[in-house]
Amino acid sequence: MEKIKMVTPLVEMDGDEMTRILWKMIKDELINPFVDLKAEYYDLGLVKRDETNDQITKDAAEATKKYGVAVKCATITPNAQRMTEYKLHEMWKSPNGTIRSILDGTVFRTPITIPSIKPVVKNWEKPITIARHAYGDVYKSVEIRAEEEGTAKLVFEGKSGKKEEVVIHEFKGQGVIQGMHNTDKSIRSFAHSCFKFAIDTKQDLWFSTKDTISKKYDAQFRVIFDEVYQEYKQKFEELGLEYFYTLIDDAVARVIRSKGGYIWACKNYDGDVMSDMVSTAFGSLAMMTSVLVSPDGNYEYEAAHGTVTRHYYKYLKGEETSTNPMATIFAWSGALRKRGELDGIKELVNFADQLEGACFDTLNEGIATKDLVNLMEGITPKAVNSADFIGAIRQRLEKRLGC
Ligand code: NAP
Ligand code: MG
Repeated sequence: MEKIKMVTPLVEMDGDEMTRILWKMIKDELINPFVDLKAEYYDLGLVKRDETNDQITKDAAEATKKYGVAVKCATITPNAQRMTEYKLHEMWKSPNGTIRSILDGTVFRTPITIPSIKPVVKNWEKPITIARHAYGDVYKSVEIRAEEEGTAKLVFEGKSGKKEEVVIHEFKGQGVIQGMHNTDKSIRSFAHSCFKFAIDTKQDLWFSTKDTISKKYDAQFRVIFDEVYQEYKQKFEELGLEYFYTLIDDAVARVIRSKGGYIWACKNYDGDVMSDMVSTAFGSLAMMTSVLVSPDGNYEYEAAHGTVTRHYYKYLKGEETSTNPMATIFAWSGALRKRGELDGIKELVNFADQLEGACFDTLNEGIATKDLVNLMEGITPKAVNSADFIGAIRQRLEKRLGC
């Protein structure tokens, strides 16, 4: 078979630990034999980030803005223990945070579902994608512990000199106070990313806040979403898609009763909590994919899980590991499909479909990594190590591609 040609390079961001090992295996076995991979490579492994004073992360994000599509391996976010382990010059910030702030995007998390792993909610037939607004609210809030009786006020001093002041509470004793904010700009970016992703994946979009209680703050989210929707309405109607707004409590009830197959956009805190709930209910962190979509239409695909440190330490000792590469493979297929769509390369889009198909064939035949074996029902699964699992996928991929 002749290798599939690419036109525009894919931004490739390598990473750390066990996922770095899987990364190479996936490229060697599942990508390079079939695709004449055109990639601009950025090593976001912690060693290189430290060597370059983290410039490499910023360069990788800028390249994503330039080319439009990136695929990223999981990376270590350093903490005190990592400072010693890697003899770091500085406690570098989370690469995902750095990339997100440069691309100004929203993260969409979608579970990979298979018939033998039943979601805890038995009527969920299709994946539910959570879109979490990743700026502001309680995550950028300031707080005061009121130690005594007194008055708490919310004050805004405009640049024009205009001043607004409201009393939060007249404390009769001790208590707590919190001040938080968001910006129209960030909410608008969030809305654009959500509508774009809904159109891309041809799924309905749900958005929920608590605007009956929060009549200015949450209401502003709703107003901006309604405004931005006007730009996408025609496309939604053409595709037969629906956008609807509902209260967060109503959304929760609807989600539980639903069949799945839509995007649920949430404010920052709601998204934090609901994404953990939805992913747990679908089965496994190792089966959760993630894509960062920027408001101007750039995409960065990755797995939702981390570098799987515990498995890496076993690997270093020469022990066999059975780490699940599914979410990382789907990051590659997602990125290649998007690249194919943008460049009009049908073969590349088809390759992405066949690669995912081969993963499903493998799992549906009961060949799986250890983490999934205990979750599978209705088949007798066989646990294999990562290399054998990827090998089994390759066999099925070759069959599908007729090699
Ligand atoms: P983790 O790497 O997601 O792993 C936590 C545990 O979940 C693993 O020990 C393993 O459980 C299970 N697991 C996760 N992915 C798996 C897979 N593909 N196959 C099989 N089992 C899997 O989280 P962590 O241990 O908290 O974090 C490790 C490092 O990753 C940290 O340095 C953190 O900063 C980084 N991190 C990076 C990202 C990112 O780049 N997007 C995200 C999160 C964390 P068992 O050990 O029980 O088998
Ligand atoms: Mg959380």
